Amino acid sequence: MTDEVILQVKDLRTYFHVDEGIVKAVDGVSFNLRKGETLGIVGESGSGKSVTNLSIINMIPNPPGRIAGGEVLFMGKDLLKMNIKQLREIRGNKISMIFQDPMTSLNPFLKISTQMVETIVLHQGLDKKAAKEKAIEMLKLAGIPAPEKRIDQYPHQFSGGMRQRVMIAMGLSCNPEILIADEPTSALDVTIQAQILDLMKDLTARLGTAVILITHSLGVVAGMCDNLCVMYAGRVVERGNTGDLFAEPKHPYTQGLIKSVPRLDQANNDRLNSIRGQPPNVIDLPDCCPFYPRCDKAMDVCKRKYPTTTEYGNGRAVACWLYTEAK
Ligand code: SF4
Repeated sequence: MTDEVILQVKDLRTYFHVDEGIVKAVDGVSFNLRKGETLGIVGESGSGKSVTNLSIINMIPNPPGRIAGGEVLFMGKDLLKMNIKQLREIRGNKISMIFQDPMTSLNPFLKISTQMVETIVLHQGLDKKAAKEKAIEMLKLAGIPAPEKRIDQYPHQFSGGMRQRVMIAMGLSCNPEILIADEPTSALDVTIQAQILDLMKDLTARLGTAVILITHSLGVVAGMCDNLCVMYAGRVVERGNTGDLFAEPKHPYTQGLIKSVPRLDQANNDRLNSIRGQPPNVIDLPDCCPFYPRCDKAMDVCKRKYPTTTEYGNGRAVACWLYTEAK
């Protein structure tokens, strides 16, 4: 990881207009991503982490969605102001994505070779022969045995773990600056999950690719990420270096998430902690701390105003009234 910031997300707001009101799925999210960094975005379902990443590459379906404000600067240029042609040159080339279920991205009717070669020809300008060689090399790097043969098979001829390896190979085949991985291992068995995470970590480190890893699991980010953003109800409630955040979580939500991770040193009869209550309905949320109905430390001010963000330097920050003087 270097100090060069390649992606700056500034005050990003993505709203969905539905019959019941306005869903502020992402409401003022800001973070930086540095070259070669792995950044984890963690939160429960509905916290806005996937919408944040779809917004980054400007892929929000409109209607009902709308990017209501903010900037996404990729190497200084705002992706939210680009036209479709400019975006196509970035997506899959400079910024690529892999999803939870590879079958949503792979075309079941086309051989892997067709799908990979087309992408490489389109973005890298190689001829078909060179593109196929590159595709085979990437499959090999991704741990696909006999890639020269497997490349001419269809997606259904691969197991779930192997399909995810193919997606990683495809995602990295154009040497992107950023790989966005949205719950890349959630659909896989636990043992295969570990293999896929190790593969992603190893390959992106070798290629110098920055990664945004979206997950609901703190266990996943602990071994993978340099830095973390914890999201709740469409906002980043805490961010910082992974080690610092695990050693000293500040926000009560982060504390609850960490306590709910099973630990090997825990006695067998210890109850696993859980955060009481449910995430809020984000339609027309009032401007208070959305975590207060679930928070053991809630104060009066929490029900009246959204907390200001307290910065600690080095990217560490928390949005909670416990850490601010001005109430
Ligand atoms: Fe709890 Fe208040 Fe902090 Fe929200 S602002 S997390 S309710 S203490």
